[in-house]
Amino acid sequence: MVIDNPGIREIAFWEVDKGIEAAFPEIEKLALGCRFTNCSHTQEPGCRVLGAVDEGEISRDRLENYRKMKRELEYLSHRQHKSADRVEKERWKGVALKVKAMKKRR
Ligand SMILES: [Zn+2]
Repeated sequence: MVIDNPGIREIAFWEVDKGIEAAFPEIEKLALGCRFTNCSHTQEPGCRVLGAVDEGEISRDRLENYRKMKRELEYLSHRQHKSADRVEKERWKGVALKVKAMKKRR
């Protein structure tokens, strides 16, 4: 029951995001130099991270782990958006019912 609380999920999501930065600081730093801000570091031209892998600064395995974590994060974020939509809908439903009740009373 507690796990289904959207507020708690938000905190967990935030911590995962911070976790990636903490676990792969050098990749996060290199990513700032990529040509595209939404670079996925897979095949984009002008990717600083791929350049660093080519030069042996970062191992391919490490980049692969980084990508896996990012994918996980995107999945979590997607799920969170979905549940937020549902919460929002429920809230509007509640408001609509209250408005209806108020109209009746008049
Ligand atoms: Zn990149």
